[in-house]
Amino acid sequence: MRSICLFCGAAAGASPRFAEAARALVAELVARNIGIVYGGGKVGLMGVVAETALDSGGRIAGVIPEHLFDGEVAFETLEELHVTQSMAQRKAKMAQLSDGFIALPGGLGTLEEFFEVLSWAQIGLHGKPCALFNVDGYYDRLIAFLDHAVERGFIVPRARALAVVESDPESLVARLVDTTPAAFDRWQSSK
Ligand code: AMP
Repeated sequence: MRSICLFCGAAAGASPRFAEAARALVAELVARNIGIVYGGGKVGLMGVVAETALDSGGRIAGVIPEHLFDGEVAFETLEELHVTQSMAQRKAKMAQLSDGFIALPGGLGTLEEFFEVLSWAQIGLHGKPCALFNVDGYYDRLIAFLDHAVERGFIVPRARALAVVESDPESLVARLVDTTPAAFDRWQSSK
């Protein structure tokens, strides 16, 4: 696995634990020589991820759309910074550069990005692993909702299983490295 995309909040969250966990995850990726692809900003957990990667000599690529260049304070000194014209191009570029995806704690943007790649896995558009980094129980209620959606018959269990969930950075990266979910055809699978 060469590179993993980290979707992360443009905020740092209400507890220092989120930034600490982001640093630990980046350290784990750098130790395994796995490159990082992220949203290209300097704010919130995005900034924590980029600064930690640079400080520890990791490989990192940012992908930011033109119109957020100022708002999310683009990390202009990154060696690899891609500037796109739209959000759609940003997400496509991030996906193209990555062999797997991890959502750190984040808000609407992070959720949208994560569910796009997860739903793309569900319909066989890629076979790359998708994970939630469940720092301090941040995603507990979202995970409970996914299970509820399975119970209510709107998500098939195999699609639910595509979402890897871990709270420990080492176990999380180990699982992504070991898991390459076969892309599957949801229309032929009800289990
Ligand atoms: P947030 O999780 O809302 O703090 O946003 C995290 C990242 O997601 C930021 O880089 C946002 O620019 C990005 N983002 C916000 N809205 C969207 C969207 N509709 N689609 C894709 N990315 C978004």
